[in-house]
Amino acid sequence: MVDTKMKERLFATLYGGIVGDLMGVPVEFKKRGTFHVEGVIGYGTYNQPPGTWSDDTSLTLCLVKNMIEKGDTRSLMDKFVRYMEQGYLTPFGEMFDIGITTAEAVSSYKKGIVPEYCGKTGEFDNGNGTLMRIAPLVFVLINECDFNKRNALVLQYTKITHGHPRSLVGSIIYIELLLSLYRNNSLEFALSEVYNLLQNYLQHELCTELNAYTRIFDENFLNIPENDIKSSGYIVHSLEAAIWCVGNSSTFKEAILKAVNLGEDTDTVAAMTGALAGMCNQMDEIPGEWLNSIVKKQEIDDIIEDFYEFCSA
Ligand SMILES: [Mg+2]
Repeated sequence: MVDTKMKERLFATLYGGIVGDLMGVPVEFKKRGTFHVEGVIGYGTYNQPPGTWSDDTSLTLCLVKNMIEKGDTRSLMDKFVRYMEQGYLTPFGEMFDIGITTAEAVSSYKKGIVPEYCGKTGEFDNGNGTLMRIAPLVFVLINECDFNKRNALVLQYTKITHGHPRSLVGSIIYIELLLSLYRNNSLEFALSEVYNLLQNYLQHELCTELNAYTRIFDENFLNIPENDIKSSGYIVHSLEAAIWCVGNSSTFKEAILKAVNLGEDTDTVAAMTGALAGMCNQMDEIPGEWLNSIVKKQEIDDIIEDFYEFCSA
């Protein structure tokens, strides 16, 4: 039986993330106000042609492939190694971007460390490297009613590259927001639902890290002026920026352009924005021109179709 809702959201969330990534790639690291993107462009920061996607998409596709193959964290780390060394699941057979913490985790794995302990745990190891790649987990958790069981899976897949409690909490917030959006479509509702869930059920040792995310759950968060939204690669900044862009836009297109034009970590902020916006039923209209620009689109179409078959089986 075709699960129409699951199919629509899965496609919109995954393609939303990929489109956000490729829109942000040419202007990554640029300072806000020094450029203005209105559509798909190419070249720029990495000198790649239009439609080129980066590590955000490659690592997400590694996860998707790994789930379809019923792999574990070890087989996922093997895929990350192939991504870095052989250009596995890249647009042109070669990696051109990777986060420092993720690269260090992969290097630890190659030295024989078990995946669970590969993610570094320092205060400065809290980049957005997990949020850029974990959105597909949502689709295997849709029917899991137990918050603790959902968390266990999210933490398992976060720790392989990012082990600090702030990163763990950031992953839980991101996945729970996506799940709430799947059920209810409203970002405001999702923010309050996830806040209540975390207040009541988040495991004790992670609770202090909720302080880092206070702004997101403030009822006036979406009214904050753009000047007060940072778009760096710090997990808290990236999550704030993505949520803010979705909450301050009425279409998918508007949300992505807002995210890209914030500057700095444009590809990851826009990829997260795209996943969140794709999950909102009202915002899933991804411009066809943007979708058609995706390099190796047929290959990605096949992977995402297989993933939908896997999730709906
Ligand atoms: Mg990237």
